[in-house]
Amino acid sequence: MATVTQESVLESVPKGLLIGGRWRDASGGKTLAVDDPATGEVLTHVADASVADGKAALDAAVAAQADWARTAPRDRAEILRAAYEKITERADEFAMLMTLEMGKTLAESRGEVAYGSEFFRWFSEEAVRIGGRYATSPNGATRLVTMKQPVGPVLMITPWNFPLAMGTRKIGPAIAAGCTMVVKPASQTPLTMLALAQLLQEVGLPDGVLNVVTTSSTGEVMEPLIRDPRLRKLTFTGSTPVGRMLMEQASEQILRVSMELGGNAPFLVFGDADVDKAVTGAMLAKMRNMGEACTAANRFYVHESIAEEFSAELGKRMGALTLGRGTEDGVDVGPLVDKKSRDKVSALVEDAVEKGARVLVGGAAREGAGWFYEPTVLTDVPADAALTREEIFGPVAPVSTFTTDEEAVEMANDTEYGLVAYVFTNDLTRAITVSEALEFGMVGVNQGIVSNPAAPFGGVKASGVGREGGFEGIEEYLETKYVGIAL
Ligand code: NAP
Repeated sequence: MATVTQESVLESVPKGLLIGGRWRDASGGKTLAVDDPATGEVLTHVADASVADGKAALDAAVAAQADWARTAPRDRAEILRAAYEKITERADEFAMLMTLEMGKTLAESRGEVAYGSEFFRWFSEEAVRIGGRYATSPNGATRLVTMKQPVGPVLMITPWNFPLAMGTRKIGPAIAAGCTMVVKPASQTPLTMLALAQLLQEVGLPDGVLNVVTTSSTGEVMEPLIRDPRLRKLTFTGSTPVGRMLMEQASEQILRVSMELGGNAPFLVFGDADVDKAVTGAMLAKMRNMGEACTAANRFYVHESIAEEFSAELGKRMGALTLGRGTEDGVDVGPLVDKKSRDKVSALVEDAVEKGARVLVGGAAREGAGWFYEPTVLTDVPADAALTREEIFGPVAPVSTFTTDEEAVEMANDTEYGLVAYVFTNDLTRAITVSEALEFGMVGVNQGIVSNPAAPFGGVKASGVGREGGFEGIEEYLETKYVGIAL
C-alpha cells in the first residue's frame, strides 16, 4: 500500500460539488480555501456553491427519492457494510485529511475513523430490522397495520469538530432507512466529507442519493432548501444559536428536525471516588479533541475532601502534554481550529482569573504560527466565571468544590444546556440517584466518554432534540404510517 502523505491525500480528495452522481465545479466557478490550523496556511481549495447549486443538489435528492425508497433493505445494508470496510482499509488517509483540516493529532483522527465508520456498520445491521405492527382494534371490526417508511429527502448540516463522525451518524441511518440527502459540511473542514462521498460512490451508492454542497455563503444557500416544500427533514449538529435559528426556518414547512447542539458538561467527583480513575476519566472527558467537543467536560465539581489531590494529579497530567502540529510524532495536543476559537478560550480564562480563579498549569496561548493554547487547569473557580455558563471548546479544566450531593446536583443542573454529565463515585446508590437527578440526555458513570454508535446520543434543554445512534437513531429517518382495514 502506498504511503499516506499530506500531498497524496490533498491530491486525491475531490474538490467539487457532488450533485446527482456527478462531480462538478460551482456555477460561477468560485472556490473556497481550506486552511491548516497548525500553520494558518491554505491547504487547498474546494468548490464554493451558489444558491442555484444548492437547489440543484435538492433537485437531485428529490429525483432519486422514490427509487431509493423502493430498494431492498439488504441492498442498502450491503452498501453501508462495504463503506465501513473501505473506510477501515483507508483509515490512514481519512486520519491524515482530518488532521490537516481540523488540527487534532493523527492518533485522535484514527480514533474518529474507528468511531465514525462504526455508525455505518451499526446501521447496516439496522437496515434489515425496520418493522411494523399488526393489531386487531378493540371492537374487533378493524385491523390496524402500522408500517415504517423513509421520511424523504433530508438536509444534513455538520460541524467542523468531528468531520467524519458527525456525517456518518446522519448518513448511516438515512441510507439504512431509504432517505436521500443533501449534506453540507462545515466550510472549515469539507475535505473529509468529500472523500467520504467519493467512497460511497465507489461502493455503489446510486446517483443522487447523497449530494454534497460546500459553500461559504452558508445561510444564503441553506435557507431556500429549508423552506422548500420538497424537503422533509433537517438534521443539524452545531451551535445552539444557529440551531435555534434553523428550527425557526424549519417551522415554515413543519419539517422533522433533529438538533445536536452545544453542551456544558459537568464532571462530578464524589468523596468516595477512586481519584486516580477520576483523573483518567477527566483527561478523556476534557482532552478528547483538544476540548473541542460538545461532550467535553466544561465544569469540574469535586468534593472538598479530595479536591486538592484531584487538582494536583490533573495538573500533573495536563502539564505533561506536548503541543504541536497533529501530524508530528510525540504530539498530544494539536491547535484549536481558528483564531476566533483561541481568542475565546483566552478571554474565558482571563475572565475567570480576574474573578479569583488560580492557574495551576497553563493559562496562555502559545506564540507563533497556528492556534495553540496550553493545556490549563484552574482551581477555586467562582460560580460567576463566564466559563461555567459558556462552552469553553478548548483544553481548559476549571475546578470548583462542593460539600453535599444536593449542592453538586444543583450546580450541575444550573445551565441552559443538557447534553452530558459525568459522575465518579464508588457508591452504587449514589450513582443511580445522582444520574436520575441530572437533567442531561446522557450520563457517564465512572467513565469519561459516552459516545458509542450502539447508544442513543443526544441532549435535552438547549442541547437539542432527537437521538443519533442506538436503536433510536434510525427512527429519526422513518415515518410511521397506520392503515386501518375494515373487515
Ligand atoms: P456552527 O457555527 O453552529 O456551525 C455548524 C454548521 O452550521 C456548519 O456547517 C456551519 O456552516 C453551519 N451554519 C452556520 N451558520 C448557518 C446558517 N445561517 N444556516 C445554515 N447553516 C449554518 O457550529 P460549529 O462552530 O461548527 O461547531 C461547534 C458547535 O457544535 C458547538 O456548539 C458544539 O457543542 C456543537 N456540537 C454538538 C454536537 C452534538 O452532538 N450535540 C456534536 C458536535 C458539535 P459554515 O461552516 O459554513 O459556517
